[in-house]
Amino acid sequence: MSESDERTGLNHRRVPPTTSGIDEEEPPGKPRRHPLWREVPDHQWNDWRWQSQNAIRSVRQLRHLLPFTPEELEAIGSLEADFKLAIPPYYFSLINPDDPNDPIRLQSVPSPLERENPSGFELEDPLEEDQDSPVPGLTHRYPDRVLLVSTHVCSMYCRFCTRKRATMVRGGWDAVNRNDRRMIDYIRRHPEIRDVVLSGGDPLTLPLAKLKFFLDNLAAIPHVDVIRIGTRVPVTLPQKLFDQELIDLLAAAGKVWIQTHFNHPREITPEAARVCQALLRAGMPVNNHTVLLKGVNDSLATMQRLMRGLLRIKVRPYYIFHCDPVIGAGHFRTSIWKGLEIMEGLRGHMSGLGVPTYVVDSPHGGGKIPLMPNYLVSMSDDAVVLRNYEGMLVRYQAEDKPPSIRPTPTRGVSALIQGSESALVPERTERMARRSLRVLASAAGANDKEFSSAACCGESESTASFDDWAPVVRRRR
Ligand code: SF4
Repeated sequence: MSESDERTGLNHRRVPPTTSGIDEEEPPGKPRRHPLWREVPDHQWNDWRWQSQNAIRSVRQLRHLLPFTPEELEAIGSLEADFKLAIPPYYFSLINPDDPNDPIRLQSVPSPLERENPSGFELEDPLEEDQDSPVPGLTHRYPDRVLLVSTHVCSMYCRFCTRKRATMVRGGWDAVNRNDRRMIDYIRRHPEIRDVVLSGGDPLTLPLAKLKFFLDNLAAIPHVDVIRIGTRVPVTLPQKLFDQELIDLLAAAGKVWIQTHFNHPREITPEAARVCQALLRAGMPVNNHTVLLKGVNDSLATMQRLMRGLLRIKVRPYYIFHCDPVIGAGHFRTSIWKGLEIMEGLRGHMSGLGVPTYVVDSPHGGGKIPLMPNYLVSMSDDAVVLRNYEGMLVRYQAEDKPPSIRPTPTRGVSALIQGSESALVPERTERMARRSLRVLASAAGANDKEFSSAACCGESESTASFDDWAPVVRRRR
């Protein structure tokens, strides 16, 4: 048994699979443990040091925990020399070992596909961060904010990581430590900088004294209003944040916002919920980045469950990033249309609090560019035609002046532009059915209670048709 096998407690046996179908649970789901660690006492399981010391760090360990073909083992074995691997037992336990395409597995376990670069488009530094770095490790791209790489260490190495050149490549970035003070000095000398993204790697893997160095220095700069901590620790190693000393250190800086990174609803566990609540209670807003990843979350149903699960634990969905063209991550990339399809199913269909901004981080250092489905359908010199999430088209006159109705006989969108109609409403929307029921109920003298009772019994479809209401909405006001 190797040294790492001893630490992990592996003894070269196949482990029986856990239950499948675990995606059906509403997040946060139940606490999970892979059978291998079922007997580990809670005080050890809940200790981040134990989790870190027992992390899966080699293909030799993986082969006893998950099924692989010999070809796969050979391929991922050859990746080991180039890229780091680390999966804490907690995060590994979220994997369904029966499913080779499990979304947690895809994010954390090396794949032979990492050797491929099908488009030839993938790059080491796809966002050209290094070219916008006045000091190594510090990217100054936008007018009022900078990104500071504080470490190259992570609790789990995400196979799609954009900054793989610093985090996962063995012997990757050693420039960071040598430039800590230079990075702080640069920020101090530039009063236009208001917002510092403390990133990595994962800053919450830093020794507390080192993290305190960054927080104390940044918090003391008067023109810095916001310190954003970019971290996957709440997702991959929440035990780290069971440590009240760390929460207190973050809170003491007074300017800290947490930017975390949940990609799948199964990652929203009771442990993750607990630490997000602790951060919120200590006064730090918690926002979430999600990366759109093929096979992990490239479906509307998964994204809806993820966003709803995040709201349930009071984490604000902030961005969905299109996956960057980084070397070894081409197999994770979807079409842009997939992202827009997902946004079409989020906006209007769920609370606006749960709708993030979908962004593409542009090549050549162009930064984040937001994309969304098109809600502006047509326009004239005095009005626009807008589309809502239901497909309703509406003429909207932004300026406060009399409408100019042109007498040109026309129909459809053109009639909205000409001003002879004010809206085109799709048939059989739930909203219109509710309205028509209310109109009919009101005409029949029903009170609100009777109306609610009829509506909740599903009588809206049977007692009122769309046509009862549509002529009213289409007429010009
Ligand atoms: S935690 Fe962040 S920096 Fe670290 S590997 Fe994952 S995506 Fe990259």
